[in-house]
Amino acid sequence: MKKVVSSLLALCLFLIIIPTVTHAEEKIPLYLDGKLLVPEVAPRLINENTMVPIRIISENLGAEVKWNQQELKVSIDKNNTHIDLWINKRNAQVGGKTVAMDAAPVLIAGNTLVPIRFVAETLGIKVDWDNDKRAVYVTTKPGGITPPTTPPSGGGTNPGAGGGIQLPGGSQTPPPTPSGPVIQSIKATGDEIVIQGSAALTASHFYLSSPERIVVDLPNNRLGQALNPKLGEVNGSGAIAKVRYSLYSDNPASVRVVIDLNSKVSYTVTENKTANQVIIKLKQTRYNVMIDAGHGDHDSGAVSLTGKYEKDFNLAMALKVKALLDKEPLINPILSRADDTFLELDERVAKANNAGVDVFVSIHGNKYTPNVTGTETYYWKEDSIQLANIMHRFVTQAAGLPDRKVRQNNFRVITKTNMPAVLLEIGYLSNSGDEAKMYSPAFQDRVAQGIVDGIKSFLKIQ
Ligand SMILES: [Zn+2]
Repeated sequence: MKKVVSSLLALCLFLIIIPTVTHAEEKIPLYLDGKLLVPEVAPRLINENTMVPIRIISENLGAEVKWNQQELKVSIDKNNTHIDLWINKRNAQVGGKTVAMDAAPVLIAGNTLVPIRFVAETLGIKVDWDNDKRAVYVTTKPGGITPPTTPPSGGGTNPGAGGGIQLPGGSQTPPPTPSGPVIQSIKATGDEIVIQGSAALTASHFYLSSPERIVVDLPNNRLGQALNPKLGEVNGSGAIAKVRYSLYSDNPASVRVVIDLNSKVSYTVTENKTANQVIIKLKQTRYNVMIDAGHGDHDSGAVSLTGKYEKDFNLAMALKVKALLDKEPLINPILSRADDTFLELDERVAKANNAGVDVFVSIHGNKYTPNVTGTETYYWKEDSIQLANIMHRFVTQAAGLPDRKVRQNNFRVITKTNMPAVLLEIGYLSNSGDEAKMYSPAFQDRVAQGIVDGIKSFLKIQ
């Protein structure tokens, strides 16, 4: 692929989006209609403005959010209101009119954080700041819950009486005496987690990837005295890294248990109503890894200095990677093509998305002027940055060609696939040194091993 001009642009973008936040930051609790939200990236104060992950706006405020990577722009739509925000720009556009904000959206660890008060109030949603508790309360429902200024009394359903839920590092209020169903213990033994209640438990659950974890919600429950009253964790072994629990919501009281995993698992959740237990059983399962040999058949890809085809290099590499991955018990390798056939880019994408692929690696050889030599790794989506960095480290080391860096570009196979995805440009077929190596079996074996090592490192497989 020949993408020097757009690569330069991509490189510039890449430099821009490296998060550089130097403001003093205070992480703060965020309540939505009285319920504490626990997003992956904690809301925080930047210059006295509460910044929240953009996912809060879409998942909790019911707005439609679109991200434009080229312009670093967030567009938010709800009812008839349209807001455009740009990373590091304090001017927003509301319905096409420029409005100045107190704080500009920022990127932190690949997450876009936006000023909640500005966005919510523009969408007609009420936002309150409680300076004593250093907490933000967002109210979407008419007559919804505003800051609990007086502790709820009676019923014993609110363990955080007067204090709300504290994040780690905050001051703790003493727990009240439990007087209803409580979670008495959470135990992780081998690949099994047992949550013990004082009465029959009901659980809902879902699975999240990158990193792998299982979330189990136990509505209408509180944490018993044997556990920390607000949040805590239990060590695990095997597939379980640790089990975290927290009083996820205090109105109504609700407990969330998050099982952090060392590897991908399949799992079952059983409610044992007589023993008052919820039992989560895990089974390690294989990661689906797609290796995509670029081009094929009538699409030769780049033609090398001596007239060799890029498609043949790509396929040879893909087959070698597949052979190595076949020996990995925790990886199920899938090839987009295993012979000299042609697939449209969208067919490759569909194949990966439909197969529930966990990691997508596309293999290519590059072409430009004869003096250009080296290895490049491309990503497009935020969820692929870590994979790109790891793959690039292993592949450049194995190839031993000049390091032409990790770059961002919107190649279709890494834009439209819905898992971490990278495109490797192993070397330049237009450079005599690179070309000679790229068609040598020893070089291909070494790079194939580098690709496998990179994939295993990303998936944390020993
Ligand atoms: Zn190519």
